[in-house]
Amino acid sequence: MPKLIVGNWKMNGLAAESLARVEKLAVAVENDSSNNFHMVVCPPATLLAPLGAKLKDKAIRWGGQDCHAAASGAFTGDIAAPMLKDLGCDFVILGHSERRGRHKETSADVAAKAKSAHAAGLVAIICVGELEAERDAGKHESVVGQQLSQSIPDTASPENTVIAYEPVWAIGTGKTASDDDIRQMHAFIRGKVGRMQILYGGSVKAANAREILHIDNVDGVLVGGASLKPEEFMAIASASKLT
Ligand code: PEP
Repeated sequence: MPKLIVGNWKMNGLAAESLARVEKLAVAVENDSSNNFHMVVCPPATLLAPLGAKLKDKAIRWGGQDCHAAASGAFTGDIAAPMLKDLGCDFVILGHSERRGRHKETSADVAAKAKSAHAAGLVAIICVGELEAERDAGKHESVVGQQLSQSIPDTASPENTVIAYEPVWAIGTGKTASDDDIRQMHAFIRGKVGRMQILYGGSVKAANAREILHIDNVDGVLVGGASLKPEEFMAIASASKLT
């Protein structure tokens, strides 16, 4: 199965440089012969419309970085799942640790958002992951197990839900989990979610992508910082190649 390579641009990018970046990426994907990945970019909401126009006939799909649980209403500043769909999104990232941590989103909030995403026809990329202190205390599996059981709504299926395992201590820090830690956690998650795709995220870069992408039960990667550099992101995607 092709690997799923997702770029999370977070709150980065103004129109001119971002559209140039995505155009460069689209050309690189078109010229790539490895043929073993699907690519998704999740830019800030302000860029979804122009980016969608650029990518309309290209091989890269796009998504949002969050959505509200309601389909519409008096929620100033929020974005509803049908609005993302309206802009051509196929995906939405939910429960990223930056939202769980800084915006105090609970797993119940994430499940409600995922349900709304499913109703709108979006694939929910549900993020889970432990804090460093939780791993040090040997609680990583119980923390992730609880996040999974509480964040995945009953509308979820392997077709509309992707799980991203992102140890919080590895996000934006340059630290990656060891191959054994990734293998173990992905096997644990596989036992809970069956056929759903499971991504790894946390300081993935060109230099470590091949190793990570070929660990058992790693179906792709969620990439933050390195997704802002087209050559680096493309090198990560190309590392999906089988040989
Ligand atoms: C992320 O934001 O989901 C992420 C994994 O970031 P980074 O690749 O920069 O660690």
